[in-house]
Amino acid sequence: MDIDKTLKNIEEIGDNHISGSTETPMRPDAFELSDIEKIESIKKDVESIMHTLGLDLTDDSLKGTPNRVAKMFVQEIFGGLHPDRKPKASTFDNKYKYNEMLVEKNIILYSTCEHHLLPIVGKAHIAYISNGTVVGLSKMNRIVDYYAKRPQVQERLTMQIVRELQNVLGTEDVACVIDAKHLCVNSRGIRDVDSSTVTSEFGGAFKNPNTKREFLDYIQMETDF
Ligand SMILES: [Zn+2]
Repeated sequence: MDIDKTLKNIEEIGDNHISGSTETPMRPDAFELSDIEKIESIKKDVESIMHTLGLDLTDDSLKGTPNRVAKMFVQEIFGGLHPDRKPKASTFDNKYKYNEMLVEKNIILYSTCEHHLLPIVGKAHIAYISNGTVVGLSKMNRIVDYYAKRPQVQERLTMQIVRELQNVLGTEDVACVIDAKHLCVNSRGIRDVDSSTVTSEFGGAFKNPNTKREFLDYIQMETDF
């Protein structure tokens, strides 16, 4: 096996950030271990990485790191892999008969690039047109947060947010734009500090150029108060 070629292929896949499907690729046995069992197992893995790097795990500053990282992976930054953490779908009737677009912009998101396990930091902007059902505004933040807390590619994250809101709201008329910085690009590799990545998904009525334009105009409004 040509190791250089293999490494080059991995590097190319990683840096092109190719994603295959809207679903996060998971194995059928993904939840056979409990969270506690996963933390125990990952703790040993992190210890092994640190040991291999030559670090002294008896040092006061380092000895708690494997446990801290394991808990953070399972319960926080990758906590959105577990379907039990999916936000509950509470919806309301659109009593005021508001039938224009609703936009929630500048939703802060923290995610993790699945090719390098480095942070993705950005903003999501979401819009929908109600067909009789509405959701609480914070629900949109929670949906963004749930799907962001997985190893991700930005394209898939954008589509997962739209699909989930389409299901909850019972309409195709949902759109999402994400503008984010990838630390795998900004802090290493090409070290392009200034670049950010924009992805979008426009469902239903948002494929109409006027509707899309209206949404994009709203998210460019300077909100300063
Ligand atoms: Zn990356």
